[in-house]
Amino acid sequence: MPELPEVETVVRGLKKTVVDKQIKKIDVFHPKPLVNTNPVSFNRFLQNEVIRDIRRWGKYIIFEFKSQKHLVVHLRMTGKFIFLPDLTLGKSNQSNVRKHIRLHMQFKDKSYLLYQDIRIFGTFKTYATGEPLSEYHKIGPDPFSSQFTPEWLSEKLRNRHLAIKVLLLDQKIISGLGNIYVCEALHKAGINPFLPGYCLNKYQVALLISAIREILKQAIEYGGTTISDFSHIDEHSGQFQQWLKVYQKKGQLCTHCNHAIIVSEKQAQRSTFYCPTCQPADKQTVNA
Ligand SMILES: [Zn+2]
Repeated sequence: MPELPEVETVVRGLKKTVVDKQIKKIDVFHPKPLVNTNPVSFNRFLQNEVIRDIRRWGKYIIFEFKSQKHLVVHLRMTGKFIFLPDLTLGKSNQSNVRKHIRLHMQFKDKSYLLYQDIRIFGTFKTYATGEPLSEYHKIGPDPFSSQFTPEWLSEKLRNRHLAIKVLLLDQKIISGLGNIYVCEALHKAGINPFLPGYCLNKYQVALLISAIREILKQAIEYGGTTISDFSHIDEHSGQFQQWLKVYQKKGQLCTHCNHAIIVSEKQAQRSTFYCPTCQPADKQTVNA
């Protein structure tokens, strides 16, 4: 599932390629991603619109049009945008890529933006001019926003008995983080993933925030992490997987302490990877 760095990579790719383009038409091949419209209305709503800007909000991708209409996309598990300067190029040398295309936007300059989604959990939601975007209220602050301070996070973790790893995955507390970067950030900060939220002291909270930002920044620089099928809009892979220290490194030597072996345990139905030496458990550590 794309996390913040992967979505940011997609947004940067889209900004470079489709901003200022005018939509000629949209063909929808599967209606499921459209959450508040149907294929005919969707095409009518965006036909002739010019894309003014594209930005990220947590893991949401926001298309802003010159008319002030908006389109908010969430890629979920397997959603993917592919930009093609013209469609014949895609047909001739990338036939495998043409599967699972759920819709495509055709621009006036004959280029295309394809939306591919194998499992179709991704969502497209339209907003009329002036309509407030409900996504802004659904999720917590972005890790790069000025709101995400040690004081703010300490307050959010106060009285929380759930494990810190589970709390960091909660998009209502902080947006954009998933399993990969939470495991990596906790390792970098030397915090045990099973430690209850309320047990983190101010020093640990500050360390955690800078670890989260550093890991995300580095992952964005490397174009995200490609574990299964994430790719850029030009179909290149991310490269950050080469720099992962704990995620999917079970049984390997920890490169930080150089003497412990990375372990993996189930935590709230997800695999948690950590180093028992760099991230020691203490008596407050919980099993959930
Ligand atoms: Zn270690």
